Parts: sequence; structure tokens; C-alpha cells
Amino acid sequence: MNIKQNLEHLHKRISQSCELSGRDPGSIEILPVTKSKNVDLIKQLQALGFKKFGENYIQEIEKKFPLLPSVDWIAIGHLQTNKSALATRLCHTILSLDSMRLAKSLDKESQRIKKDLTVWIQVDLWEQSPMKGCLRDEVESIMDFVRETPNLCFGGLMILPPIGDSKAFSDSHNFRLEIEQKMQKKVLLSMGMSEDLELAVMSGTDQLRVGSALLGAR
Ligand SMILES: *Cc1c(COP(=O)(O)O)cnc(C)c1O
Repeated sequence: MNIKQNLEHLHKRISQSCELSGRDPGSIEILPVTKSKNVDLIKQLQALGFKKFGENYIQEIEKKFPLLPSVDWIAIGHLQTNKSALATRLCHTILSLDSMRLAKSLDKESQRIKKDLTVWIQVDLWEQSPMKGCLRDEVESIMDFVRETPNLCFGGLMILPPIGDSKAFSDSHNFRLEIEQKMQKKVLLSMGMSEDLELAVMSGTDQLRVGSALLGAR
């Protein structure tokens, strides 16, 4: 497998979709997802300029953490409240903040160890499963709570539309606009993976979380 070639191909897909939608490819962040991938592959991505990596399981971050001291780890999977202390210590960002309970727990831990933590609120607009985010109606109260905390910093919204469902991608786009209007400010959106990044780019995503298209099948 040639990661550099994969990255070139990925850039090509992104710029094609950007052309179709009049967007600037430079405004879209690629977050490599390295779950189940080894340290050597992550080092190859570091050599290509990546500093942040997404992982689903805190235990896997815990294993890789001492081997890759300069990485900013991003938790992207459902996080159990009882893993808050570990996640706060190991991670730079939690992309999957999905409940008020978890927000309170991360607030407590970040204060306890005096560490700033960026949190993105994961919302499940289609009520697919509690593992896929909070409800639409919970987003504002969680955002308000985060704003009042000393160490948590609001990063944006994370949304996982059903793969290939273009209606769901436009729902996400509209929801983001709704929140931006309420907050009277720009709110970043993390949406899109290897399979559906074209739809995500056309729907205004700011961050793509890409695993297999960069590092091969898991
Ligand atoms: C695994 C995973 C990804 C990456 O998926 P690929 O299809 O390999 O690009 C992105 N986001 C989340 C939340 C994931 O769990």
C-alpha cells in the first residue's frame, strides 16, 4: 500500500467535489482515522504532515500514546462516562460529545487536571441510535453548558448521516445553518468518511474523517 498515492487520490476526489460546489479545497480538513492501524503507518502519515489522528477506542489511544508522543489524539467514537478521566488525560479533542452527562464529566476532569479540551457535539438527527449522538433538541443546552465551563472549548458539530443518503446530508447542512443562526456565529461541521466524502463536501463539511481511503481496509 502506498499512503502517498492514497493521499493524492483523496485530494483529487476532494478537489473535484469542491469544483462542483464552488468551494476551496484548502478549507477542508482531512482527519486521518487510524483505528486498528499500527504505529508505523501513523508515522508515515506524520511524515506527510499530519499531526492529529482520530481513534474510536480510548484503550487503543492509551496503547499508542507512549509510542507517539507528538500526536494530538482525537476521540471519535462513543465515549462512556467512566472513560472521561482517561480521555481527558490522553486526548486533545473529543469529537463525540453526545450527552449532558458526558459534558459534565469531561468538565470535572478537565478542571481536576487543569487541561483544556476541545469538544465537538455529535448529533443524531435521524435518531438512529444513542451511540450515534445526542438528540437535535439537546444540542443547544450542551453548547450553553460547554460555554460556561473554564476548560472545555466548543469545536463544532459532528454528524454521521446514513451512508449515501443525500437527503440526510442536506438535513445536516440545514441543521448546521439553524445552529449558526441561533448562535450568530460560524459553527464547524465534521461530516463525511471514505465512502461518502463527495456528498459531505457538497453539503458544506469542514472536516472529513478518513480511514480506509488513506490506510486501506480494516
Ligand atoms: C471509522 C470511522 C471513520 C472512518 O471511516 P472510513 O470509512 O474508514 O473512512 C470516520 N468516522 C468515524 C466516527 C468512524 O468510526
